[in-house]
This record gives sequence, C-alpha cells and structure tokens, in this order.
Amino acid sequence: MADILNVKVSEFMAKVIAKNPGESEFHQAVKEVVESLMPFIEENPKYHYAKVLERMVEPERVMMFRVPWVDDNGEIQINRGYRIQMNSAIGPYKGGLRFHPTVNLGILKFLAFEQVFKNSLTTLPMGGGKGGSDFDPKGKSDNEVMRFCQSFMTELQRFIGSNTDVPAGDIGVGGREIGYLYGQYKRIRNEFTGVLTGKAIEWGGSLIRPEATGYGAVYFADQMLKTRGQDLKGKIAVVSGSGNVSQYAVEKLIQLGAKVVTMSDSLGFVYDPDGFNEEKLAFVLELKNIRRGRIKEYADKYNVKYFEGETPWGIKCDAAFPCATQNEINEDDAKKLLKNGCYLVSEGANMPSTPEAVEVYIEAKILYGPGKAANAGGVATSGLEMTQNSMRLPWSREEVDARLHQIMIDIHETCVKYGTEKDGFINYVKGANIGGFIKIADAMISQGVV
Ligand code: GLU
Repeated sequence: MADILNVKVSEFMAKVIAKNPGESEFHQAVKEVVESLMPFIEENPKYHYAKVLERMVEPERVMMFRVPWVDDNGEIQINRGYRIQMNSAIGPYKGGLRFHPTVNLGILKFLAFEQVFKNSLTTLPMGGGKGGSDFDPKGKSDNEVMRFCQSFMTELQRFIGSNTDVPAGDIGVGGREIGYLYGQYKRIRNEFTGVLTGKAIEWGGSLIRPEATGYGAVYFADQMLKTRGQDLKGKIAVVSGSGNVSQYAVEKLIQLGAKVVTMSDSLGFVYDPDGFNEEKLAFVLELKNIRRGRIKEYADKYNVKYFEGETPWGIKCDAAFPCATQNEINEDDAKKLLKNGCYLVSEGANMPSTPEAVEVYIEAKILYGPGKAANAGGVATSGLEMTQNSMRLPWSREEVDARLHQIMIDIHETCVKYGTEKDGFINYVKGANIGGFIKIADAMISQGVV
C-alpha cells in the first residue's frame, strides 16, 4: 500500500514540476501536502474523482505587473508586482504581501498554497492568496517606500476589494506600508472599506492584529505542551527573527514564564543567556520598527554575544520558534536542536523547516507545529479585523485576544483529530493538511467544476 502511495505521490509531483518549472519552494510546499493527503484521498475516493488536489495546485488567477517609481535621486526604478489568487472556495482571497528582493512567482505560489490550508484551519470564511514584489524596503527612505506603495496599489487596486481579495502584510510589509497602500486604494476607488488588514487602529485596524501571529505561535506551543501535561514556565526558548512575528512571540513567551535567549536578523543572532525581558524587548522594537537598525546593536547595548552570519539553532533549548523565513532550519540544524534537548518546534514563519528537517522532527516524535497551523493566528486576527470592518464596530483587546486564543485551541484540536497516529503520536503536519483540506475540498465539490 505504502509503495502504491509513493508512486502516486511521485506521479502527481512529476506533473506539478513539469507544469511549474523552476518553482522549487512551490514544489516543496505541494509535496508536503500531497504526501499527507494521498492516503486520505485513497480512503475517500470522492476527492479523487473530483480532482480536488489537481485543481488546488493550479491558482485560480495570477497577476504580474510592472511597478515603476522614482527614487530620491530622480532615477526611475522598475520592480515587479504580483498577486496570486489561489483559492476562493470558502471566502474571498486572503493573504499577505511580501516585499523582499527574493520574491518571485514560485515563492509567492508556495505562500499562497500554504495560505489556503492555513485560512481554512482558522475556522473563518477566508480563501487563500498572496502577493508582493521584489522591492526591498531596507535602506529606502519613507518617501521612496510611499512612492513605491502608491505605484504598486495603482495597479493592484483593480484586482482586489473587501469581498474579493483582502491583502495584508508579510515580510517587508508592516504598518507603514499598509498605510501608504490603503491611502492610494481609497484615493483611486473613493471608498473606505476593509480592503486591507493590518490597518492602524485609528482607521479600521484591529487591536491585537500586530501581536497575533507571534502570540498565536506561543498559544499553539502551549497547547502542544498540554498534551504532555506541561506548560511554558521555565522553558528555554530559542527564537529567530526580530520582525513583527518574533517580537510578539518573545513578548508572549516572557509573559508565560519562558526564558527567551536568542533573536536574530539576516546578518546574525544575539545570545542573551539571562533572557530577554520587557525592557530589552522594548529596545528591540524601537531598534527594528523605528530606527530600522541591525540586531547586532542589541549585543553592543546589553554586552552579550553576537554571532555574525550564524543562525541560533546550535543554542541549547527546550523549544524553538523559527520566526524569520522559509527554509531557515535544515537537517543539520534540526539534528543540533534535538541533540541539545529541544523537543518542541512551533513555526511562526511560513515553511521555515526544510523537508529533511521535518523528517528529523517526525522521526523523533517531538512536538512539531508546522507554520500553517502554528502561525495561523495572524491571518485569523485579520479575519476578525474583516468582521469588525463589516460591522463597523471595534472589539476590545480582551475580546480579540480571547477569540484568537480560542481559534488557536480549535486549530490544535483539528490537528489532534486528524493527526493522531495509532501509537498516540500527534503528527501535526498530517493533522493540519487533512484538517485544512476537508473544508475546502467539500466546498469545491459543492460548487461544481470551477
Ligand atoms: N502574512 C501573514 C500570513 O502568512 C498574514 C496574512 C493576512 O493577515 O492576511 O499568514
């Protein structure tokens, strides 16, 4: 049986690779899902006959467009913009925009594909999409970022809408960019609607949205620990990244009594054996969100070690929270983590572990929460922002946080339901993939061949 399934996975992947050449991250994301789903689809042939998976790997629509803008020296710059409208079976397309020089079609298709399952898991009515540009906001002036965002939205606005497609932030797109993008949308379309999430609180944003991805990854970790009768108190945590997701993962970890000993950026990581506290975290927020400097400054300020060009996976810990970017943990890193006693990985980033690293976790049967489950709190709270926008009524911090917390508990439950294996081990990868799939697949079947 296993052999037949392997052949089916290989045949399926051969077609995906032939049709989408060069898009290695997309192949990686699809393969992980197909491996989880193939046995389930074999047992439930209605999904096979309806070719649900074959349809899901083909985006409903892909937009690519020119984004010209003028830099501070008066020179014309040309970037490429994208929006992938991946799946709208259960709601309007929903997913972030990434501005980073590594952005290309394959990266955004992997992110859009993951987003479809993630959004389904949130229990909210959101389809999946993703977009962005190879524009690099690093080192650009506020005015340059604004002119870029205005040009980007001038084209994007024709494809999106509060009932059609609702973008948000991702790497390189935070409150500042969402503001500029929203301003331009409003100007062109002459309507004040919930077309973007991650908005500032004064003009339609939701409380807790900035915190949501990081908090959610920690709530998910807490749920995983509960299955072993444990909690986060006193646990040593290694966190990568120092952007929005990491910042609030660290905040929640501190609140729940864990000791966070690392943060990083693309140039290196800092190791603070005494642990971050609220004051130190406030320094990181100011450094990263306002001065837009490098994490090395933290090491200088607090007199701790800085490891240039390295990732934090060799540091001894109980729990790891990769919150930086895709494929940041490879097989060797995963082995190092486990050798040092790490037994929990909760992914704040999207697909931060390579397939080989995931295999290491699963073989060792550690608590491993894949991004599409563990980091779904961000987009879930975007869903709550959409609800508040539709009602034109804001909720309190407590209300949004309680809903976020409950959603993370529910996602965990779904993973347990579909991922528990015969020996009691919870395979969260399988659980998240099957749990996310069923709702979309059933919706697609109900809606006919579309
Ligand atoms: N970029 C985030 C994610 O990967 C959030 C998307 C959203 O809020 O729409 O899920």
